[in-house]
Amino acid sequence: MPIILDGVAIAAAIKQEVAEQVRALAAKEIRPGLAVVLVGNVAASQIYVRDKAQACAELGIYSEVITPPESITTGEMLALLAALNARDEIDGILVQLPLPAHVDTKTLLDAVSPGKDVDGFHPVNSGRLQAGRPSLAPCTPAGIIEILRRSRIPISGQHAVVVGRSDIVGKPAAMLLLHQNATVTICHSKTRDLGAITRQADILVAAIGRPGFITAEMVKPGATIIDVGMNRVTERAEFDRLFAGDAKREATFMKRGSTLVGDVHPKAFEVSSAYTPVPGGVGKLTIAMLMANTVRAAQMRRNNRGGDGRC
Ligand code: NDP
Repeated sequence: MPIILDGVAIAAAIKQEVAEQVRALAAKEIRPGLAVVLVGNVAASQIYVRDKAQACAELGIYSEVITPPESITTGEMLALLAALNARDEIDGILVQLPLPAHVDTKTLLDAVSPGKDVDGFHPVNSGRLQAGRPSLAPCTPAGIIEILRRSRIPISGQHAVVVGRSDIVGKPAAMLLLHQNATVTICHSKTRDLGAITRQADILVAAIGRPGFITAEMVKPGATIIDVGMNRVTERAEFDRLFAGDAKREATFMKRGSTLVGDVHPKAFEVSSAYTPVPGGVGKLTIAMLMANTVRAAQMRRNNRGGDGRC
């Protein structure tokens, strides 16, 4: 039977450690602060932002949610970010994505001070990550490493195959695995004979955005599977392809009209030695790592008043 890598328990342990760090900073009269900028009314974004603010409250981190109207321009957003960059009580700035199509997302992400870039998306932080220097690493990939490390799954010398090459997940996950001495292969939509490569993986990271895309035939027996995908399935035929015979899932699906599924087909987990479930896996780590990054940014800024991302 494969081991289920419990994201809920690992996230709770990380949050407990972060809370201790917050208490240690409080003794020095420092309270880490996170500003979240949420533009418009995307329902999913509102839920994510609420969860982030709630996690801050639990851990004693100051948080502020700024909600400019959907009509905000790139110029107005730049002014807002400049003001947050300048505020001493704000250690971390997070611009909730996606932004409306009329604003220039890349320009805005580049306008967050690297030292306050708790999402780890700024080119200075991705450059530092690539160079193997301490930086604010993107939260989801950092969470993947924490899951492996805390579950005592060896990384060094293992063949890690990452399917997906986004700047947010795939690329930084590959880089972090490389720094842990894995032999890393990155795959994407133009990769030929994907299954032949994924079948070589000791650690298979799926960050594709397609429900149940990785099938049992694509997995080496005994591999560790990290399923980053978060896809909402609403169609009955798709549900049956993924969960036929799973009475518990069926009950949820019937009640809610949808269910959350990763990028890995449930049958593929049966081939593995360990895997992260969806929900309850990688997703739980993302907010915990955001909290850890916020505290880290607060510590870094006190150690390095230059705020240029060095730590
Ligand atoms: P993107 O859409 O930015 O990237 C998807 C990647 O998958 C691309 O590199 C793409 O290749 C690759 N891909 C698409 N189709 C195929 C295919 N047929 N074969 C091989 N590769 C393919 O997605 P993200 O990286 O942002 O997110 C990936 C998944 O992770 C999503 O389900 C998302 O919801 C989830 N996610 C979960 C988080 C969490 O907290 N758990 C956080 C962030 C994301 P190409 O580059 O060639 O187009």
